[in-house]
Amino acid sequence: MSRPKNRCTWPNESKTTMKDVNIKALEMAEEALNHTDHAIQKFLTTGSLPEPLDCKPGCHYCCFNLPVVTPLETLFMGYHVDLFFMDHEKQKIFDRIERILSRIKGMRTYEIVMMRHELPCIFLEDGMCTIYSVRPVVCRTCSSTSAEHCKMIFETRNHRARLRCYQRMREIFQTVQTDLVHRSQEMGCQSDLLYVAEGIRDYFKHRRPIEAWLEGDVVFNIR
Ligand code: SF4
Ligand code: SF4
Repeated sequence: MSRPKNRCTWPNESKTTMKDVNIKALEMAEEALNHTDHAIQKFLTTGSLPEPLDCKPGCHYCCFNLPVVTPLETLFMGYHVDLFFMDHEKQKIFDRIERILSRIKGMRTYEIVMMRHELPCIFLEDGMCTIYSVRPVVCRTCSSTSAEHCKMIFETRNHRARLRCYQRMREIFQTVQTDLVHRSQEMGCQSDLLYVAEGIRDYFKHRRPIEAWLEGDVVFNIR
């Protein structure tokens, strides 16, 4: 699998394929991400949208953030990083994780949100997403009809403002994320949402994170 470096998730993007990996957790995550892409594509192509989305590769105001994800998505990202990143690339990610987690240590959620302009995602590099093909649902559905508006929010640090995102995109996000949480609970596996930075830290701390998660162990230490 090549490592595309794009930010947005719109029609004709290449799909994540991991058919050779016979691991239940990864297949479930892959299914959810592919389902998300199909739902987005359907929304974008079957409705007549009043305004087109303005998301383009390289636009990354929304990547100054700590994405909140499910354990399943984290396992999928961690597996990808482990498999495809070179040692020095992994080290760069680990350094960013350490920097970010020490920066937000002891902070409350609203305090973290208010300083998001100082918190680039651990996977953001040169304005691009380094895990584009396996990025989580929250990133696939994050979108706006105005990049200028996103820029304004970022530059004025008005982090209470909402992106100009279609409600349907928010619904797709909520439906898929909730489904992933429920399915994990039904399987007796850890299901609480976590920050990507925490999740990737714990993935690499664990000797066998995917199998342990499937066995119902606590893999992720959630703040
Ligand atoms: S949501 Fe906004 S910042 Fe993010 S890619 Fe789309 S237009 Fe750019
Ligand atoms: S994983 Fe990080 S860099 Fe990639 S799209 Fe999401 S926020 Fe941006």
